Amino acid sequence: MQLHGNGRAPQEARRWLDGLWVIPAVRAFPRQRKRARCLKTLPEYPPISEDGEMSETIQTDVLIIGAGPCGLFAVFELGLLDMKVHLVDILDKIGGQCAELYPEKPIYDIPGIPMVTGHGLTESLMEQIKPFNPTFHLNEMVESIEKIGDPLFRVTTDAGQVFEAKVVVISAGGGSFQPKRPPVPGIEAYEGVSVFYAVRKMEHFRDKDLLIVGGGDSALDWTLNLHPIARRVTLLHRRDDFRAAPHSVEQMRALVASGKMDLKIGQVTELHGENGQLAGAMVKGTDNAVTRVDCNTMLPFFGLTMKLGPIANWGVSLENNLIPVETASFETNVPGIFAIGDINTYPGKLKLILSGFHEGALMAQKAHRYVYPDKRLVFQYTTSSSSLQKKLGVN
Ligand SMILES: Cc1cc2nc3c(=O)[nH]c(=O)nc-3n(C[C@H](O)[C@H](O)[C@H](O)COP(=O)(O)OP(=O)(O)OC[C@H]3O[C@@H](n4cnc5c(N)ncnc54)[C@H](O)[C@@H]3O)c2cc1C
Repeated sequence: MQLHGNGRAPQEARRWLDGLWVIPAVRAFPRQRKRARCLKTLPEYPPISEDGEMSETIQTDVLIIGAGPCGLFAVFELGLLDMKVHLVDILDKIGGQCAELYPEKPIYDIPGIPMVTGHGLTESLMEQIKPFNPTFHLNEMVESIEKIGDPLFRVTTDAGQVFEAKVVVISAGGGSFQPKRPPVPGIEAYEGVSVFYAVRKMEHFRDKDLLIVGGGDSALDWTLNLHPIARRVTLLHRRDDFRAAPHSVEQMRALVASGKMDLKIGQVTELHGENGQLAGAMVKGTDNAVTRVDCNTMLPFFGLTMKLGPIANWGVSLENNLIPVETASFETNVPGIFAIGDINTYPGKLKLILSGFHEGALMAQKAHRYVYPDKRLVFQYTTSSSSLQKKLGVN
């Protein structure tokens, strides 16, 4: 299993990938988000640098957009039929809604598993697809799909990565998770210049006076990760009580106690600066006193919300922000592009994980025809087929 990311595999992914090959992505600073034209989205990192290099085009049988449970299980079904897969997800973690929205909640309706948490299901799916060695590209959003063959698609992410795939599977759930903008007047003017909603390249924050805002895992993780390279880090949260993992909070408090960083309790009310370059933030404390924090970069982590994202521009039909498919193979109106899981619609559709698993199995049968037009597909059971067992590494 390979992971491309921002050079820092998120802890969860790192744990799954222990002992496996983790490749830091060779990536440029992405372009300033062009999608802002069609969407109300927030810039998450700086624009492409002058000397920004683009990654090489990756050729693959299948490109899966979305590493939620349905995208993950599709890797299994495609792998059994010898199709190589790359997956792209805008999140910095694998598992889609299960990992982002309810990692600790129990799910009771996965066939054959009486109870499993969102996190547990993601871990099991990762274990199940290990034999097929998929490559993950996290922290990247698919922006465009272009038809360049019959079928062959050129897929481009907002990090400038280009794929050429014979088949595209959209398993984008409810759309892309987007960061929430904090309610600070005029913040838009600083976005993409000195206010960022995600860290794509740690080096960009070297020697900065950073104001990190939030009390969850992202705020605390980035406080701890950026503190060694930033000039000074101030963490700001509205109360002195944090949702983040207790050991991260302990580490942060130890740094504050030893004078290596600052902690402030309150909320940003105003930003000061010129031409998008931040110089300071006014912070209202719990006692209503307003003080200034000098900073040249701000990273607010106010959680994520789900938006359809650029899917509307990919040439597939949409119906109430969902992709209509036919139910023999879950193909869209564009031959070679499939849609499975929460993102698709058809008569009787149920937005359940088990529906997406079924859809992935049927999708793989039709995808095989595009990837191997001259090969006949023989239906086989994993219980009795020695060739399938060989692929799974169990025989
Ligand atoms: C609180 C809660 C409880 C639930 N409980 C259950 C339950 O008990 N049983 C059940 O069956 N279902 C349950 N569900 C629903 C279940 O989580 C969804 O059906 C399932 O997650 C759908 O999987 P998916 O792979 O289609 O999409 P998702 O899990 O939504 O994953 C889609 C992924 O695509 C990525 N993405 C989107 N657009 C792009 C893009 N342009 N580029 C790159 N990546 C992109 C997103 O970041 C996301 O990670 C629950 C949902 C919630 C919110």
